[in-house]
Amino acid sequence: MDLGIAGKKALVCASSKGLGKGCALALAEAGVDLVLNARGSDALNETAEAIRSRFNVHVEAVVADITTPEGQEEVLARAGAVDILVNNAGGPPPGMWSDWGRDDFMAALNANMLTPIALMSRLLPTMIEKGWGRVVNITSQSVKAPIAVLGLSNSARAGLTGYVAGTARQVAPFGVTINNLLPGVHDTDRIMSIDTQVSQSQGIPLEQVAKERSASIPAGRYGTIEEFGATCAFICSQHASFMVGQNILLDGGSVNATI
Ligand code: NAP
Repeated sequence: MDLGIAGKKALVCASSKGLGKGCALALAEAGVDLVLNARGSDALNETAEAIRSRFNVHVEAVVADITTPEGQEEVLARAGAVDILVNNAGGPPPGMWSDWGRDDFMAALNANMLTPIALMSRLLPTMIEKGWGRVVNITSQSVKAPIAVLGLSNSARAGLTGYVAGTARQVAPFGVTINNLLPGVHDTDRIMSIDTQVSQSQGIPLEQVAKERSASIPAGRYGTIEEFGATCAFICSQHASFMVGQNILLDGGSVNATI
């Protein structure tokens, strides 16, 4: 299917690895020029080069922490006016409700709520002016069904979801859509490190942790970054212009809900 977005430009935050990389790959396949970002330069440059050599698109790589005001300024300056914004950043650490104080909440809110809101605030005006734009926020299945040990994530992402629900309806008249993509368990470094922690704390082999977790997912496996990216690219396509303010679960059926 021709997504109709060849020649557009996308800023994909936190995209040297994992879900952000999956989105970057799928957008590049659709002919979209990219501005990629991460804190570490090695994986970022490697991903940028791999995309350049595979797809005929322009790729810029900006090393910066997207959750800091300085990092945001640097990325925005290098990106300029973009047609597509994919918001992403690392997720907060797991723990118990009793572990977290104000500073922990402020860090989570900053990374997973205020940072995407800041980037939308800066980039939406140009999209509105052009009469076309797409924003996809990578959130989590925890927005639909809380994950107890990820209370910081549950809280921050719920705040972003509320902001998007109202804002998406305000920018839709100008041809700009904002939607959220809610990953369940995907095969990325983050999930590998969570599985490794479980393996070490419970003294069971890593393969067994992954096998048991896969069995708890109706699809019987972890998601891939490629299928996550394909959905992101579709939401950014011309075909998705009537999709406004939605929260789309990609979880292999994990959240047990009728709607
Ligand atoms: P990942 O495999 O660990 O990849 C994270 C990517 O983001 C890396 O490229 C990392 O590069 C970059 N990054 C992290 N913090 C950054 C920052 N402050 N500024 C710029 N770049 C940053 O993680 P993932 O699994 O793709 O997860 C992405 C998001 O989805 C996270 O918020 C996670 O909580 C959420 N999520 C993931 C899953 C899943 O199954 N994977 C499920 C639910 C929610 P550097 O480290 O070099 O900066």
